[in-house]
Amino acid sequence: MNFDSIWSNFLSDIKDELSSLAFKTWFEETKLLKIENSKAYIIVPMPIHKKHLTDNYSSLIVERLNNITGSNCELVFLLNEEIEELVPKTENIVENKNEIENTEELNEVAQSNLKPQYTFDNFVVGNSNKFAHAAALSVAENPGKMYNPLFLYGESGLGKTHLMHAIGNYIVKNSTKKVLYVTSEQFIQDFIKTNRKDDLETNFNYVEFFKNKYRNIDVLIIDDIQFLGGATKTQREFFHTFNNLYNDSKQIIISSDRSPNDLKVLEDRLRTRFTWGLEVNIFPPDFELRSEIVRKKIISEGLENEIPDDVIEYIASNTGTNVRQLEGAITRLVAYSSMMGSAEINLDLAVEALKDSISRGIGEKNDVHRIQKIVSEYFQISVEDIRSKKRSSNISFPRQIAMYLCRVMTNESFPHIGIEFGGKDHSTVMHSVEKIENEIKVNKDLANIIEKLKKDIGLV
Ligand code: ADP
Ligand code: MG
Repeated sequence: MNFDSIWSNFLSDIKDELSSLAFKTWFEETKLLKIENSKAYIIVPMPIHKKHLTDNYSSLIVERLNNITGSNCELVFLLNEEIEELVPKTENIVENKNEIENTEELNEVAQSNLKPQYTFDNFVVGNSNKFAHAAALSVAENPGKMYNPLFLYGESGLGKTHLMHAIGNYIVKNSTKKVLYVTSEQFIQDFIKTNRKDDLETNFNYVEFFKNKYRNIDVLIIDDIQFLGGATKTQREFFHTFNNLYNDSKQIIISSDRSPNDLKVLEDRLRTRFTWGLEVNIFPPDFELRSEIVRKKIISEGLENEIPDDVIEYIASNTGTNVRQLEGAITRLVAYSSMMGSAEINLDLAVEALKDSISRGIGEKNDVHRIQKIVSEYFQISVEDIRSKKRSSNISFPRQIAMYLCRVMTNESFPHIGIEFGGKDHSTVMHSVEKIENEIKVNKDLANIIEKLKKDIGLV
């Protein structure tokens, strides 16, 4: 049996049946390893695919495979790294569940506070955010059923708010569920009003209003929960709201600039609840994703033909890793070129237009931290380790690389870099930088790694 051709038949078969978003997210990167003893072994890219495909698509997959192969199979989902230990596992066997939500009516977008411009369609997916994207889509397709709450966290400007609106918009479009998006500041404001006396003239009851607004919904999206810190009474109220919705299997989606564990400003019992569902970290985009975002944004502005590749690369390399700043750079460039009456946008013009914002980006206070993070991720060690005094070579070599990058890519002094790396002496830092410098000259692999890291760091 040729499993590749079975699978490509299968994929083209179901492609027509799913939205292109669902197909791309859940099926495009799958592969059929083999069919053996009535078991179909399907390779999936991430753990989240196992659950999502099992819960949502198993009967469809079984049926379509049956059409092609003429027999019914059990499905076994595997990650690439699990292929070696391939002993048929019972936990991967699929139960037949048929639960496809099928409700058509649209909801009032206005009351939901959703911004229609933030959708899955215009969210660009790359390595740093593909897990967050898949988790968000999974929740959007099954509100209240898959991961509750969904807790998205990461630095500012990485797309958390965008993804949350995308979930909300998707749900509103595909079901009759009632969605409410609020920032935690709005929640605080609404709660504070409940302490007011009822408005006798208009007969307005704020407590009723609050209850209606927050309990009478199917999906609550609350953005930047870290700002709830300090407001103790409001936290208490949020705790009740959370419990109420949660017990009714209503979907709750929360974002924050840090993980529940690091949200020390919130009460423990709230933080614990936030870990009941799925916590997803969204990371800064690497060079490749930044370029793709710039390219897509340019197309969406209708400027595709006017901006050449070297300009895209220039923006993606020089504007840091915050997507909001990337967008700002594009806007500035477009505005500058029209102000100058330039017919074409070329590299010279881009350099001129962006010179202020780009020189500001370099030498930012947190560049050392960003370099430490990116190098640690690349070598799969922890940031704590790279900043520690540990001497094992799997840690000290990445540390030397990170120190070298800090030296050549920021304006930090040797002593300062030493402080950031576990309190090292400035001569140790100098020695490490020299060592890497010399090694790059003779070791092409290392030179390539350094090039890639520089691009990911985004200051070259
Ligand atoms: P956060 O809430 O994490 O601070 P936002 O969701 O507000 O970030 O994102 C900042 C801006 O960058 C928004 O305009 C958003 O549309 C855009 N953006 C972020 N990530 C992406 C992405 N992957 N694809 C397209 N646009 C993005
Ligand atoms: Mg935000």
